Amino acid sequence: IKNIAVLTSGGDAPGMNAGIRAVIRTGIFHGRNMFGVQQGYRGLIENNIIPMNARSVSNILHMGGTILKTARCLEFKTDEGMETAYRNLQANDIDALVVIGGDGTFTGAKRFSEKFEDIKVIGIPGTIDNDLYGSDFTLGYDTAINTVIEAIDKIRDTADSHDRLFFIEVMGRDSGCIALRSGIASGAEAILLPEKFTSVEDLIAKLESGASTKKSSSIVIVAEGHKHGGAYDIAKQVEERFDYYDTKVTILGHLQRGGSPSSFDRILGSRLGYAAVNALINGETRKMVGLRGNEIKLTSLEDALNTHTFKLEDDLLEMAQVLSI
Ligand code: ADP
Repeated sequence: IKNIAVLTSGGDAPGMNAGIRAVIRTGIFHGRNMFGVQQGYRGLIENNIIPMNARSVSNILHMGGTILKTARCLEFKTDEGMETAYRNLQANDIDALVVIGGDGTFTGAKRFSEKFEDIKVIGIPGTIDNDLYGSDFTLGYDTAINTVIEAIDKIRDTADSHDRLFFIEVMGRDSGCIALRSGIASGAEAILLPEKFTSVEDLIAKLESGASTKKSSSIVIVAEGHKHGGAYDIAKQVEERFDYYDTKVTILGHLQRGGSPSSFDRILGSRLGYAAVNALINGETRKMVGLRGNEIKLTSLEDALNTHTFKLEDDLLEMAQVLSI
């Protein structure tokens, strides 16, 4: 491996900058020439590839978003797009790529490295959804949970003062990871997850039980991918049959993607960036670096993409029920 480029792609996540910084500095430590690609795969196609040094990544560790920008790029899905990207990498004498992103990004990386085997590719899982196999935590997930609980704490103040029931919608189309952890950390009365069916009857029974023991406010977390619809739909269904509280809805939306990364994500980004470059130097390709237990482990991109495990811990699900009475 001579020269290494790094890019961020797909949805942004806090901690990506920690990853970029670690990749650049680890590569420089090992005497490699380092490059940053702007706007994900689009930058590869448009030859937006810039040389980077240790100072290019000064003062970014604490910043949300990604200094390299990210984008969705349909052209990269075509053979012509991939060929243009390959030619641009060759023109810059780059033979290795670190991609930071989610499953779409990894799908592109896997296809690209199968087509052009002389380019070695390592992935870093960067998504607030925590929906990839091979890493217990993905980059940005911890910060997103912290952002969500900060918002819920504020909503709780007003909910409590007015005896209100709040339905709060959090991100997670297919994954209830943010909902479960933020629900536990903020003491939510109920958590509605895409992976688990909760009937409106059961939800109302739970809220009635809280009201009968004089709960002054109730917070229900709804993951956006919940089967009964979003927070507005569920609130409406509940409101029609349960009017103990005044009901309100808050959709947290994109604020969950932003903010300064937590210490956990700064350290995780640093570890994964460092490990990604070391893996490339050790001759690895088409793999993802991830955190398992408290160790950094490699998983093939194939397994990361195709293994679907239930990521919600049983003990957390059970405990959330017990503690929310
Ligand atoms: P994420 O990485 O967060 O899941 P996307 O699903 O938007 O985000 O994927 C990011 C980018 O990865 C896409 O815009 C596209 O450039 C690339 N990509 C996704 N799927 C493929 C594919 N099947 N082949 C090639 N590139 C892909």
